[in-house]
Amino acid sequence: MFTLTMKEEKPLSDTITFLGTGGARFMIINQFLASGGLWLNLSGTEILVDPGPGCIVQTTKRKLKAEKLSAIILSHRHLDHSADINIMVEAMTRGGFKRHGRLFAPADALETEPVIFSYLRDYLDGIEILQEGKNYSIGNISFTTPVQHIHLVETYGMLFNTGKHIFAYIADSRYFDGLYKYAGSELLIINVVFLEPRPPTDNPLIPTDHLSVPDTERIIVELKPKVAILTHFGMSIWRAKPWEIAQRMAEKTGIRVIAARDGMRFDLAKLDNTQD
Ligand SMILES: [Zn+2]
Repeated sequence: MFTLTMKEEKPLSDTITFLGTGGARFMIINQFLASGGLWLNLSGTEILVDPGPGCIVQTTKRKLKAEKLSAIILSHRHLDHSADINIMVEAMTRGGFKRHGRLFAPADALETEPVIFSYLRDYLDGIEILQEGKNYSIGNISFTTPVQHIHLVETYGMLFNTGKHIFAYIADSRYFDGLYKYAGSELLIINVVFLEPRPPTDNPLIPTDHLSVPDTERIIVELKPKVAILTHFGMSIWRAKPWEIAQRMAEKTGIRVIAARDGMRFDLAKLDNTQD
């Protein structure tokens, strides 16, 4: 008798888990939708993007292991994207006992009034500053920050290349023509906060630098991804039922549009089965 010790090789999949789909203040303080960010598992390289409030709760609930993370990326310093950055660095580095992982963030998240405590920076293998048009790598994954967004603070979206797939994440921004620089992605993940565009105002309590449903539709038509996933919903979108908005957008654009749900896991292999 002998036992077979060789494990059957399972091909590694590429997945994106939505640890939350809520965005902007009133949604976040009520937690009608969670706000934990995106967890990428790209052929075994795990990356956390935008750990908003509750990220640590969503992560442990979904049995994701923070110590397996290779990096945390912050699109910008706003609370709904960065509130759990400190605890997630602690979790990634096992409370600081295992120096490990890198942090990518815009300069203004690290300088005056930084969002990450200074003592935690020593737990990391390194910190890299995001800048417009730069290319970065994490293991066998690369990403670029094609264009700075128009938002109240320094903000970047990302274009990821896994070697098998290219996908884009458009973070918080006002609509502008340069967003076409994300072209070439098969999958577009896009933060849609408003149902309708908001006129500019001088009141700092009324933010206007967010994408609306008509803006998003325009971007989807411009970029023509195989699949678009809407997320980061504010209250107005939530009340209007994001899944119905996605369905109408799909009918109008002829592109597959999905409204993300808290905890949804999207397998990039699905892009291979989608007809062009
Ligand atoms: Zn923001």
